[in-house]
Amino acid sequence: MATGSGQDAAQAGPGPRPLLDAPQTAAAGAAMWVFVVGPPLALVAVVPFAWGWGLSALDVGMAAVAYLVSGFGLTVGYHRLFTHRSFKARRGLRIALAVAGSLGIEGSPAQWVANHRRHHAFADREGDPHSPWRYGTDTRALLKGLLHAHVGWMLKRELSNRARFAPDIDADPDLRLVGRLFGPLAALSLVAPALVGGLVTGTWTGALTGFFWAGVIRMALLHHVTWSVNSVCHVAGRRPFASRDRATNFWPLALLSFGESWHNSHHADPTGARHGVLPGQLDPSARLIRVFERLRWVHDVRWPSADRLGARLLTEPGGPRGSAG
Ligand SMILES: [Zn+2]
Ligand SMILES: [Zn+2]
Repeated sequence: MATGSGQDAAQAGPGPRPLLDAPQTAAAGAAMWVFVVGPPLALVAVVPFAWGWGLSALDVGMAAVAYLVSGFGLTVGYHRLFTHRSFKARRGLRIALAVAGSLGIEGSPAQWVANHRRHHAFADREGDPHSPWRYGTDTRALLKGLLHAHVGWMLKRELSNRARFAPDIDADPDLRLVGRLFGPLAALSLVAPALVGGLVTGTWTGALTGFFWAGVIRMALLHHVTWSVNSVCHVAGRRPFASRDRATNFWPLALLSFGESWHNSHHADPTGARHGVLPGQLDPSARLIRVFERLRWVHDVRWPSADRLGARLLTEPGGPRGSAG
């Protein structure tokens, strides 16, 4: 961001510790490039070659299941439970959600939570790990900022300070254990579809296409949807609620992001268990939390209250755009 100083940002934070931990190792930085840039390149290379024989109904089914499990692990587990404590969950479910989120291959629970709490603490200001407004507001600066917010920030090898932003996650023995197993879980997330595909079809081709579609491409789609919440959902869409930042509600991503693209509502009321709070806003993550609540697997759910949200509502649903940037 063009304005503000590091000094201000440090003082505005929730604690006296520095924003960042020591940077990632060069190997981890290189792995990031492989995981971020590799899948789209692989897709471009393989689609013409595999067209007609390289995608089976089994691949599509496995990709859908893997997308649902890892996606809800991130939205319900990593985001609404671990980062924002929107509800309390039984131990078994907490662990299951942490494992499911790890299968999304977006980092350990503690690192993800640290990044995301830092984002909320400094949203669209100096110190935000991924604000699209970082370089300014003219078209050139915004395009550069969108690229930074979407993927660029992860390739800089910065690690948000876990001791400052996620001490509770680091202090939880179950979440620490899942965090230590992040590497093997990430590998499992890619290899399991290959194993199932190979065993069900009895062919190496089945293993390869399972790995490709339900492993790599499913991971890449989930990544880009998550990253779009960071980039697109701070630029395009409506701002019905007052928030200190430029977060937007962007309806086209509501289903694929499991309700996370109601991002303006989320920034206005971060601890709310439902992000799609206005009529007609689909929020599959909130529906799943409701199912868990009925099963008594979760309790103390912070459902949106008219008091909390009503005061921040700027425009009627479907009304004119809020203060678009
Ligand atoms: Zn945001
Ligand atoms: Zn959040």
